Amino acid sequence: MARVFNFAAGPAALPESVLAQIASEMLDYQGSGMSVLEMSHRSSAYQKIFDNTEATLRRIVDIPSNYKVLFLQGGATLQFAGIPMNLMGAGRAGYLVTGNFANKACEEARKYGEVDILATSEYTGFDRIPEVAGVGELAEATGYDYVYICQNNTIFGTQYHELPQTGEIPLVADVSSCFLAEPIDVSRYGLVYAGAQKNAGCAGVTVVIVRDDLIKDGPALPCCPSYLDYRLQAKKGSMLNTPNTFGIYLCGKVYHWIEEQGGLEAMERMNREKSGMLYDYLDHSRLFHGHAQPASRSIANVTFRTGNEQLDAAFVAGATERGLVGVKGHRLVGGMRASVYNAVPVEGVRALVDYMGEFEAAHTN
Ligand SMILES: *Cc1c(COP(=O)(O)O)cnc(C)c1O
Repeated sequence: MARVFNFAAGPAALPESVLAQIASEMLDYQGSGMSVLEMSHRSSAYQKIFDNTEATLRRIVDIPSNYKVLFLQGGATLQFAGIPMNLMGAGRAGYLVTGNFANKACEEARKYGEVDILATSEYTGFDRIPEVAGVGELAEATGYDYVYICQNNTIFGTQYHELPQTGEIPLVADVSSCFLAEPIDVSRYGLVYAGAQKNAGCAGVTVVIVRDDLIKDGPALPCCPSYLDYRLQAKKGSMLNTPNTFGIYLCGKVYHWIEEQGGLEAMERMNREKSGMLYDYLDHSRLFHGHAQPASRSIANVTFRTGNEQLDAAFVAGATERGLVGVKGHRLVGGMRASVYNAVPVEGVRALVDYMGEFEAAHTN
């Protein structure tokens, strides 16, 4: 068996011990005589798996008791619509556009109400988080239902290191690519959500964490499908219909692994070490240049390029040959992207930095 170092942005690397454990339980889950894949979502054995998954997540994140946790399907993308349908009571929201996913969320929300773009970094190629001072006053004065951010911009490699102050207006954040990468104070948000396939499980599970007073009257828009009705899903324990049973089981294993490793503080320490190794290299390199402005750099996705497309392609091909896979950048940015999620080991990043050094020596004089 030859496992590679996987730097893909998502679906992405999973802890090897989690995969091994799942493999060992594949034919007979803990004496049940069947796989979790074959288990009824209404069985007590499965309910135990589900409850354990939620409880572990609540423990590692320290989710306040007045927040509901939902495990839904449809990816982060479905929540681009779910959020306005549930929360746009006054019909108006403010969006900060810091990349492709924030932009998509913003455009989707326009179908359901009035949307203002409060700030954007589009004009600098989404290389930074724009200035957000004053957003709170504006949001309160306008009476937005919420202010929306994409906290870590997976494609561009930027991240909010300080949240916008939104006063009385709920802050809604897409944390898909930074969820469980570092501690998060859920009480600062009205709603946070994450597709699990980046850093926190597998594709097909989206975790929505929402403050219960925001959903107590049900969805803001009558056209909201039952599936996306957060109040109803909370009441049904995320089992309005058949949930992604296996995906939720896998997420539970990942949450346990994080807890065993020392929780979110330990994840942050490791992620800072890994991304720091790459940024240190980039800051001194004569060949590679980082895409993100230093003050906006992501601890999860490190974007860089040589400035020469052929060299970039040669670098990616050479990396793949060495078992360093998934480093090709997103087509919107080009160049390279190394996603250094929780399950990517420090040795993998060291190997990548070593290779960058060799490549640079061979291509500079
Ligand atoms: C990947 C990603 C999405 C899209 O997720 P899907 O699960 O494919 O819908 C949205 N937002 C962010 C920040 C992402 O990284």
